[in-house]
Amino acid sequence: MVDFSTISPHLNVRISPKAKRLALRLDAHAGCINLVIPSKASMKKAYEFAESNQGWIEDKIGALPRPVPFAHGQIIPIMGIDHIIEIEKSDKKYTEINILNGKIHVRTQQEDPSTRITRFLRKFAETELKKLSDAKADILEKKLSSFCVRDMKSRWGSCSTDGRMTLAWRLIFAPMHAIDYVVSHESAHLIHANHARKFWELCEQLSTDYSTGKEWMRLNGVNLGRYGKHPSQPQETPAE
Ligand SMILES: [Zn+2]
Repeated sequence: MVDFSTISPHLNVRISPKAKRLALRLDAHAGCINLVIPSKASMKKAYEFAESNQGWIEDKIGALPRPVPFAHGQIIPIMGIDHIIEIEKSDKKYTEINILNGKIHVRTQQEDPSTRITRFLRKFAETELKKLSDAKADILEKKLSSFCVRDMKSRWGSCSTDGRMTLAWRLIFAPMHAIDYVVSHESAHLIHANHARKFWELCEQLSTDYSTGKEWMRLNGVNLGRYGKHPSQPQETPAE
């Protein structure tokens, strides 16, 4: 058995029947590098290939945004305002969490309440993002037929002309003008199912700061994945 972890602990091996050649691909979301090996290729060759690219792997992993766990003393931006996490021991059975005056205040018995904090922030995101989305839909004299937040990997939202909207809950860590742009974008899909000129015109009309918000998401969107992250296990998606 070839041990690829000696090259990098962030290397994730994928054997692919479809792949034609050896390849290294960064998965920024999972914080790892996928080594794609065609099923017919030799493991020794694959190892040598990855080893000869060790510098590249280290550079890519080193350039990833630093994870910010949901732990005491960490600073988390919520809708553009920095919030410090304060965890306090409590003798109550249940965990209490409040967001107030730049603090995420947690009273808990748990040794590591990060899962509980994630759940709380996700719920908070759902409430806040729904308010914004409803307001945009109102402008368009439309109603959302369903709304939910999810952990989305490669996009920030989706919306159909029949009013089903989904947004990435991690948008809550972006500044307001960026959140507003994404919500405006998805709301504009209530009218236009495409990205034609009329769509972008409407999106701009709905946004408070369209171009800055769009640009912010383009440059920084990937960083929203860092909050509450532990070095996560790569997903079980097949390599191309
Ligand atoms: Zn779109």
